[in-house]
This record gives sequence, C-alpha cells and structure tokens, in this order.
Amino acid sequence: MGGYGRLRGLFADFTAELADALEAFGEPDIASQLDVLYVTGRCRCGDEDCGSFYVSDGSPRPPRRGLVNYIANLDTGQIILDVCFGTITYVEVFDRPDVNDITSRLPRAPAQAPRPARYRASIRPFWPDAEARNSNRSS
Ligand SMILES: [Zn+2]
Repeated sequence: MGGYGRLRGLFADFTAELADALEAFGEPDIASQLDVLYVTGRCRCGDEDCGSFYVSDGSPRPPRRGLVNYIANLDTGQIILDVCFGTITYVEVFDRPDVNDITSRLPRAPAQAPRPARYRASIRPFWPDAEARNSNRSS
C-alpha cells in the first residue's frame, strides 16, 4: 500500500467505467490491474481541464512490452491509459469534472525522467465504440 489511496477507492465510479470498457474490449489483464493500483500523484501540467494522475502497483517490473496508449474519446471526456511494459502507469483524463474534483486535491507527482527524444508510443483505441464516435464528430 502506498501513494494517496487505492484507485478504486478514490475514483470508484470512474474506475468501474474503465473496467467495464476494458473488459468489453477484451482486455481483462489491463482491467484486473484497476483492483490493485494506487494513486501516486496528479499530473504536473496545471491545465484546469486536466484530471490526469499517476498510478502504481508498487512493484518494479522488468521490460516485457513497450508502452501502449489505450485511448478513448468519449462524450464524457478523453481518457488515455499509459500501459508501460504491460502495467498501467498513468491515467490521462480530460474534461471530466467528476475526476478533476478528486485529482485537484492530490499533490503533484514528482518529476520523472524525460521520454527519449525518438520515443513513440503505439496507440490503441479501447472503448468499444470510440472510433465510431470520433467519425461521427468529424462528419
Ligand atoms: Zn495534465
């Protein structure tokens, strides 16, 4: 146990929403992590619409898979999960006042090492109808 509390405890409704979406999209391994993650601090950007925060399961893991961004653009806001070596490390959330209300009370996370200059994450929409919603918006 560490950080500022369990993800599920701090963000009960949001976490349930994420778990449902990940399971619906066939990502039970990612979804199951939501039960054990705790929140280690909020994003340092200072954007008032940003409710992003860092998470950890407390165990350092050896590199197995690269970083993947799981992305959803929803009517209820944008969510991006940074999944680093198979483990969720960062939950990027925009335009979610319910999440921001909680995140804004957390201390900022300490600075981390910058990403490599030629860093590029692979991207994966995970919400079942995220792509359909996006194409509807642009038309
Ligand atoms: Zn931010």
